[in-house]
Amino acid sequence: MTLDELRAGVDAATLGRELYDCVTDLYPLCRSLTGDGLRETLRRLQRRVPLTVHEVPTGTPVFDWTVPKEWNIRDAWVKNARGERVIDFRRSNLHVVSYSVPVRRRMSLAQLRPHLHTLPDRPDWVPYRASFFNETWGFCLSQRQLDALEDGEYEVCIDASLEPGSLTYGECYLPGESSDEILMSCHVCHPSLANDNLSGIAIAASLGHYLRQVSLRHSCRILFLPGTIGPITWLARNEAAVGRIRHGLVLVCLGDAGRFTYKKSRRGDAVIDRAAAHVVRQAGDHVVEEFSPYGYAERQYCSPGFNLPVGRLSRTPHGCFPEYHTSADNLDFVRPGQLAGSFAACLDILDVLEHDRVYVNQSPRCEPQLGRRGLYREVGADEMAMLWVLNQSDGQHSLLDIAERSGCAFPALRRAAAALERHGLLKEAPVR
Ligand SMILES: [Zn+2]
Repeated sequence: MTLDELRAGVDAATLGRELYDCVTDLYPLCRSLTGDGLRETLRRLQRRVPLTVHEVPTGTPVFDWTVPKEWNIRDAWVKNARGERVIDFRRSNLHVVSYSVPVRRRMSLAQLRPHLHTLPDRPDWVPYRASFFNETWGFCLSQRQLDALEDGEYEVCIDASLEPGSLTYGECYLPGESSDEILMSCHVCHPSLANDNLSGIAIAASLGHYLRQVSLRHSCRILFLPGTIGPITWLARNEAAVGRIRHGLVLVCLGDAGRFTYKKSRRGDAVIDRAAAHVVRQAGDHVVEEFSPYGYAERQYCSPGFNLPVGRLSRTPHGCFPEYHTSADNLDFVRPGQLAGSFAACLDILDVLEHDRVYVNQSPRCEPQLGRRGLYREVGADEMAMLWVLNQSDGQHSLLDIAERSGCAFPALRRAAAALERHGLLKEAPVR
């Protein structure tokens, strides 16, 4: 199958359902930086995408960091004097601060309070908190739940383990014609949060699933990594091979109703930056952000020692929607149509990366007579695309250059170039 056939053949409604089903399936799992929730997530993804699962032992040095202890949790609760679970991990995994050390003791509400986290401004929402590199414990609950707690003694239990084990990540490699790679990367370390975490995971998995069936020029590498330590570990283990990465995208927060936001790589003018900016511009209302050393895995890919051409595609960026890192980032917050739209944008970007070419106009002295060749009929309404391609194809400007200058959509320019080439008016330039 070609990429064009894939883009034409995948029905948006079916795709939206598939993506949303994936989010729904993974939503209840208690993912964290390490541990069985993350492993189970990758195991379920393996049904859909050919994924190699790597385990890196605790204590492994990775650049300036060390692979942490592995965290697993079985149960957690706070019980009141009547033995009722007033905070219950089984109701939502957000109730426990991720990476909490094990606890089993009785204490007063006053002693418990410093370990309780709420969102006073959003009294019905439960915040998401993690403490990965500082050994502590805590619970998260709604402000209303906290207000309802009576004075008295509570029994506190976090039945968790924080022990030497390993860090788990998943990697899918799809060989193309060339060893030049397109990298796609998502984070897999958040528990029941739908947009921040699962939307990117579902889209990355579906990209792997569908692109496996497509012949591409580039090879594709799709990474499912826990935040921060994940990309650091991957880069430390693959340092010698990162030179093959020609373009890369971090996929995150892609299921909400917001407009697209593309954050540029540190380079700022990489082909991926221009391709993604073009695609989100064509999609309508959008934002293109300059690089900043904050955010997700792009922080590591774009550290100065690597400086990889990796940008980030989101809808509303992290921290910019009130539901971010709360129980309201749930299965209602992401919608099938929005997920499908984001998936389509990824394919559109891929289309530019795969098909950007430089041509030479074979009849450059004045305009060739297009009507005589039936070209107006052939390309229909895309007369402007045809004129732009003819005018700019001097062996110096690629189709993406022409798209930027003309405002024409890349697919229209591609179609025009193909028609002109069929009629002998255009020839691909020798590779520079
Ligand atoms: Zn997050």
